[in-house]
Amino acid sequence: MFGKVGQEELAHCRVGIIGLGGIGSIVVEYLARLGVGQFCLVDDDRVEESNLSRIVGASASDALNEVTKVTVAQRLILQSNGRAKVHLVTDDVAKESAAKILISCDYLFLAADSMRARLVFNALIHQYLIPGVQLGSKIRSDSAGTLMEVMSANRPVRPGRGCLWCNQLIDQNLLAKEAKTDEERKAQAYGVEEPNPSVISLNAISAAHAVNGFLLDYLNLRPTLAHSTMNIFTF
Ligand SMILES: [Zn+2]
Repeated sequence: MFGKVGQEELAHCRVGIIGLGGIGSIVVEYLARLGVGQFCLVDDDRVEESNLSRIVGASASDALNEVTKVTVAQRLILQSNGRAKVHLVTDDVAKESAAKILISCDYLFLAADSMRARLVFNALIHQYLIPGVQLGSKIRSDSAGTLMEVMSANRPVRPGRGCLWCNQLIDQNLLAKEAKTDEERKAQAYGVEEPNPSVISLNAISAAHAVNGFLLDYLNLRPTLAHSTMNIFTF
C-alpha cells in the first residue's frame, strides 16, 4: 500500500501513545509490525492480574512482578522490530514534564480513558499542531445486567477539526472529580469493577481502525477531498 518510500517514512515516524492498557497494547503491536521506527509511551500504571484478559504481550509473571505497562509495550515492540527506538515515560500525562515529551511526536494515539488525559491530548493537538486519534471501547449494562450499549469509538482529532472540547467529549464534572483523588480517577476506568471485562475484540476494532487512519493520513494516501471522520461502531 505504501511502497518503499512509505516504509522509510514510517521508519522515521515518531508516534506517541498515551495509555498502554488494552487498546494501547494492540496499537503498539500493529505499529511495530508495520515498521514505525520511534515510540514514545506514556503510562504510569503497572500490570495487574485483572489486566491479563486484555493487555497484549502481558504475562502472569508481569502481573506478579508488577511490571510497568510501558515496559510490557516496549518488549512487544522490540520483539517484532528490534531497531525501533522506544522512549518510556512512567508518569501521568497530566504532568507537564510528561506531556512535554509528546511535543516532538508526529502523531498521537490517546488510549487512556480519563478526562484529564483527553484534555492534555486535545491541547497538544491544537497548540502544537500534531494530528491524533482518540480510541475507546465501552460496555454498559443496567442494574439487572441487561446490555445497554456495546461500542468501540474512534475519533480523529486534527488542528481545527474534531476538537474533543468543542464536541463535548470532555466532561467538566468528571474532570473536576479526577483532579481530586487518584482513587476516583481509577474507579472510572473500565475493568476495575469487573475482573474479566470482555473488551479485547472491541479494542481490536478501535485499534485497527485508528492505525489504518494513521497510515492513510500520515503517508498522505487518502483520495482527494476524503478525510478521516469520527467512527462509532455499535454492536
Ligand atoms: Zn475546540
